[in-house]
Amino acid sequence: LRQRENFAKLGSAMVRPKKSRPSGPAQSSSLTISAKTLGGLAMPRVCPRCFWLTMKAEGLPYQMPFPGIFSTLDSYGKRLVTGWLARHGSAPEWLAALGEISRSIPPPHYSKFFVLDEATSIVLRGTPDAVFQLRDGSYIIVDYKTAKFTAHQDELFPMYEAQLNAYAHIGERTNIKPVSGLALVYTEPVADDATTQDEANLTENGFRLGFSAHIVPVEIKPRLVPSLLRKARTILDFPKPPLGLPDCEDCAALAELFGLAGS
Ligand code: SF4
Repeated sequence: LRQRENFAKLGSAMVRPKKSRPSGPAQSSSLTISAKTLGGLAMPRVCPRCFWLTMKAEGLPYQMPFPGIFSTLDSYGKRLVTGWLARHGSAPEWLAALGEISRSIPPPHYSKFFVLDEATSIVLRGTPDAVFQLRDGSYIIVDYKTAKFTAHQDELFPMYEAQLNAYAHIGERTNIKPVSGLALVYTEPVADDATTQDEANLTENGFRLGFSAHIVPVEIKPRLVPSLLRKARTILDFPKPPLGLPDCEDCAALAELFGLAGS
């Protein structure tokens, strides 16, 4: 299930029914959903069946572990920026497009960064990659992507946009407010021919690899998150998995595998 795999990659993003809240007439239980998972629902061809199955499953089969190198790179970039800010009181040049940053706030953990949406009984939570405070006192929330900014990344933009808006939604209802901006910061390896010919990149112990940053501003859309929460609630309130996408080749392949084609 291709989309199921995508939803699964959303990690801590799992939605689990909780029994702590009383259920209302139209809603069976309260739910917890991560900003990342909610972001998946913003994709244009989201499959409600896949979403339902992924969220209801207690652990998914066939999951590949996420390569650890990405979290190392992620953490390295964050520590470089935080260290620079602490030493210089301003951001490195390549983050100038974000505004006049005065300091970096330790990103709150999802156990403290959440909000209950009363309309849907969904607890929305998440852990942003980075939070910066500008000199005017407002906040910028950033999501780092260790990737080239390519057409494919662009395809995923609705998901990232919703995820960042979810952080803004939570921030505005907790203690990170006002949120004045959101941004994706792509850090892409510089590995062109000239770089590979530069002997300065060879060291005694190995080699160096530099990264260049590409900043993509994300619009703050206050109505986006409430509408996605309603969508999540509608799908997850189905007592059985809803129908999948009619033209999905994966579902057709699965049906063939089990001899269900045409049934
Ligand atoms: S239609 Fe089936 S295989 Fe395709 S995305 Fe939905 S659940 Fe997954």
